[in-house]
Amino acid sequence: MEKGNLSQVKNIRQYVLDNSLRESDILNRLRLETAKDSLSIMQIPPEQGQLMALLVKLIGAKRTIEIGVYTGYSTLCVSQAMPDDSYTVACDVSEQWTKIAKKYWKEAGVDKKIDLRIAPASETLQSLIDAGQNESYDFVFIDADKEKYDEYYELSLKLLRKGGLIAIDNVLLFGSVIDSSLLDGAFPESSIQAMRTLNVKIRDDDRVDISMLQIADGITLVRKKEA
Ligand code: SAM
Ligand code: CA
Repeated sequence: MEKGNLSQVKNIRQYVLDNSLRESDILNRLRLETAKDSLSIMQIPPEQGQLMALLVKLIGAKRTIEIGVYTGYSTLCVSQAMPDDSYTVACDVSEQWTKIAKKYWKEAGVDKKIDLRIAPASETLQSLIDAGQNESYDFVFIDADKEKYDEYYELSLKLLRKGGLIAIDNVLLFGSVIDSSLLDGAFPESSIQAMRTLNVKIRDDDRVDISMLQIADGITLVRKKEA
């Protein structure tokens, strides 16, 4: 095993789950319902949801944006971690998947804190900018169509306050970023190329502080610098 690469230790993820996961009953039920869907791999894993909940608490987030809702698991993790007067703009194009999300948000009592916008996320983000909401959000989670990530990143940077945080999901594309053939073409070459280009761009981006985490499918944390 390569020094420092714990991800290759068998069962290490199970150890992490057994010794740290505190998934609530409602999150657990949403995850089990989502697991019946053939595309449930799209949902973030529960330990990532717990990390995101911790991050929004750490930065005292009250205004967040979710780009890619699916059945609402990550939105619920974040929303539950914020106070009653928090606000989340949740972006997706699917009525069908977000119907499940809405059911669980209501049951969890967070539905009034979540403003679901069914439209291409770029349009929703641009409408927030046009409404004068630049530099007014604390946290953004980017987890939708990979080809558009760079656009979401730039729009998010405008909407984010200084010191705010963006979490970018799937930055490793299950290894495809280093070997396109790994998943038998599960990701189109355009997605892989877009992710590689964005990863390099963010590495060299002086506007932000960053850390690329090798958990789940890779998450890059991006903090907008103060100056
Ligand atoms: N964050 C979710 C979770 O943890 O359960 C998973 C999101 S899933 C990977 C990606 C979502 O992005 C899908 O629900 C899809 O409908 C949505 N999506 C795809 N293209 C989009 C677009 N142009 N604008 C907004 N949402 C889009
Ligand atoms: Ca994802």
